[in-house]
Amino acid sequence: MLRVAVVGSGPSGVYTAQTLVQQREVPDVRVDVLDRLPCPYGLVRYGVAPDHERIKSLQGNLRTVLEDERIRFLGNVEVGGPRLGTGRLLELYHAVVYCVGAARDRRLGIPGEDLAGVRSATAFVSWYSAHPDAAGDAFGLGAVTSAVVIGAGNVAVDVTRILARGAAELSPTDMPHPALDALAASGVRAVHMVARRGPSHGKFTTKELRELGGLPGVDVVVDPAELALDPAYADPGAALPAVNRRNVEVLRGWATAPPAPAVPEAPGGRRIGLRFFLRPVEVLGDGTGRVAGVRFERTEPDGLGGVTGTGRYEEIPAQLVLRSVGYQGVPLDGLPFDEHTCTVPHAAGRVLRNGTPSEGEYVAGWIKRGPTGVIGTNRPCAKETAGSLLADAGVLARRVLAGDPADGLRAAGLAPVEWTGWLGIEAAEAALGRALGRRSVKIPDWPGLLTAAANPPPQP
Ligand code: NAP
Repeated sequence: MLRVAVVGSGPSGVYTAQTLVQQREVPDVRVDVLDRLPCPYGLVRYGVAPDHERIKSLQGNLRTVLEDERIRFLGNVEVGGPRLGTGRLLELYHAVVYCVGAARDRRLGIPGEDLAGVRSATAFVSWYSAHPDAAGDAFGLGAVTSAVVIGAGNVAVDVTRILARGAAELSPTDMPHPALDALAASGVRAVHMVARRGPSHGKFTTKELRELGGLPGVDVVVDPAELALDPAYADPGAALPAVNRRNVEVLRGWATAPPAPAVPEAPGGRRIGLRFFLRPVEVLGDGTGRVAGVRFERTEPDGLGGVTGTGRYEEIPAQLVLRSVGYQGVPLDGLPFDEHTCTVPHAAGRVLRNGTPSEGEYVAGWIKRGPTGVIGTNRPCAKETAGSLLADAGVLARRVLAGDPADGLRAAGLAPVEWTGWLGIEAAEAALGRALGRRSVKIPDWPGLLTAAANPPPQP
């Protein structure tokens, strides 16, 4: 038997486990999928927006994999922490595949970034996704009328949409109740999503962009003159990758639609302003340590795909600023780390230590290739890594293990939450939803999750 630990139960971890058990070259591969959280599915549970039910339904596919008898979910297991180092983990298994994602948000590096009210989009996403580390967080939405979102990727679009959507539309989702209440009490009237480059360089995908135009009671405003600063916008025949061309067409449609009122007339109406060619240079304070706005420099294309500053400035008032400028991998104690790319150095998924493959250690997903691509991108990535591991299986299997690795985890002082524990959490979330008159509602804190995991429903 070849025993493999996959660290991380998001898509890359689950696809890696699936590839390892479903192949035929190496018989009897058993995989433990470990996660720091007591819940599986990684960013599908804690990153995909609650109103994106079709993408969320991917959890069903991941669930089928984790229910395979050759795969075991062991949550509440932190690797790299005080109890379980990477070296000890490798003693417990023949091989370890790290699928730990990219957990940190990138910063802007501009003055005022640490003022109260300036937060990362990832913190906001964690909060409305009920990540237990975000329990008790608050974004003071009641006092916010204008929010600025910096960045033009899909995360920026997600947080813009959630800020603009009415709480009533979010009520049917599994969003935790405290976040739903806060959004219901939100004073937000305008959300400005600001890109430093032009419309043809947006990193968002078209479906996500288009969705902004379909939100009830929300006007989307773009300035045709600002869009026209982009040569690829001004020239409809410009050669662009398909997604960028479609994005430009959506924006052109909004630019040519009748102008929306400056502030929507309907009670509770909101406005999304999509701004381009503005780079943040300073976050402005209100004199009491709170954010009051952002100062941007107008940019223009440099002819090489980038932009240069023009020396002209514009200020957008805001009581909340979410920076959404990408994720970054974080070093895991005991694993090599490339500070430049914020990934683990590897060759076809084999971890490299000083340029040489480290026996039994592999990576897949964002910690391997950086935080890019959609969920499906993880499939070929996981396949490549699993292929490398399986090619090494003869050497890896020579090592005799001490016994069931789960015993080793417990001996290290860990209390793994197994699949039945996760079923306990699911049952408790369904019960919470019933009590609140909603569908299943996520439990947003560690004690609640661990109590639910300790009370699994009776097995048939
Ligand atoms: P992203 O796609 O890399 O976008 C980051 C954005 O931040 C870019 O517009 C970038 O502009 C901008 N930026 C970077 N540094 C900046 C700075 N100093 N000042 C101003 N702007 C700056 O990152 P993401 O939105 O976090 O998404 C991460 C990944 O998750 C992506 O692959 C995304 O597609 C995926 N995702 C997908 C979905 C979905 O499918 N629904 C939802 C969420 C996330 P430049 O282009 O000019 O660098």
